[in-house]
Amino acid sequence: MNIKKYLPLLCCPDCLGQLSLSSPNALSCLKCRRPFSIIKGIPVLLPKRLEQEQLLALDVWGKEYRELLEKKDFECWDKYCSADVALIKETSVFNKEKDIFLELGCGKARNCAALLKKGYKNVIGADICLDACILASEICEHYRLTDYFFLVADIYKPPLKRNTIDLIFAGGSIEHFRDTLGGLRKTYDILRTDGKLVATVPYVSVSTLLQGFLTGNVPRLPILGSFYEFFHTKIMKNKNLMYGFEYSFTWRELRTSLKKIGFIVHCYGLYDVEYDLKFIPCLLKRIFLKIIRFKLFWPMIYFCAAKSERKK
Ligand SMILES: [Zn+2]
Repeated sequence: MNIKKYLPLLCCPDCLGQLSLSSPNALSCLKCRRPFSIIKGIPVLLPKRLEQEQLLALDVWGKEYRELLEKKDFECWDKYCSADVALIKETSVFNKEKDIFLELGCGKARNCAALLKKGYKNVIGADICLDACILASEICEHYRLTDYFFLVADIYKPPLKRNTIDLIFAGGSIEHFRDTLGGLRKTYDILRTDGKLVATVPYVSVSTLLQGFLTGNVPRLPILGSFYEFFHTKIMKNKNLMYGFEYSFTWRELRTSLKKIGFIVHCYGLYDVEYDLKFIPCLLKRIFLKIIRFKLFWPMIYFCAAKSERKK
């Protein structure tokens, strides 16, 4: 990883000051003087304080990435990755040589690796979990990929300068922020004018209302949402939160939030992938895969929105 190449894009997550390389394994903020470590080539640029749901995500996902890292499990391309890459290519015009791509909540960065394989030159992956970033970097090394950069970051306080990124992909990450509007606003800030946000999120439907009851999803609906949250947090004491804190959205609410921030919404639709359907018996899976193509049952949606010049 070439940290010097990406240093001009980075900033302090707390005060937005310029960062400088104080040693091969450390960065420091030129404004507030806060030091940041670089572990195994990954800059750890978290703000001083993390929100409760971020700590929960670290707990849930951290364990999984640690195990994969210990096992050196570099398997990364699957049907979800193919669907994500197809979505990125369909929804955005991207100059592989010049434009900067950022994956928010990149995990082991299967999408970053797939895009690098297709010749993308400036690929950044950000995740709150250090082990995920180390794993992502080892995967890229394993497949002899270049031009990637991973960093540990928090969406609420991204360590990236404003107006720098051409395309942000957030596959299943926005739903994990309790402050959806706050998180989306930050993605807006770091995008260049006309830059695009492509994302997938759980959709409020019969599927998510049923499955979400088991896996800890909270629908963004009045009354019912409060009931789900009360059930998951007070009765189940967070034990069923399979993916950490997670919302599902109605398109109406999401579109209103995006517009409020200043995004121009380009498109949305069913996130089209052969879903795993973990809780459905094998025999019924084929039927359910057909049923979930009806809007009332959509498990997840994608959307694409562009940053406009209007300031909100
Ligand atoms: Zn600072």
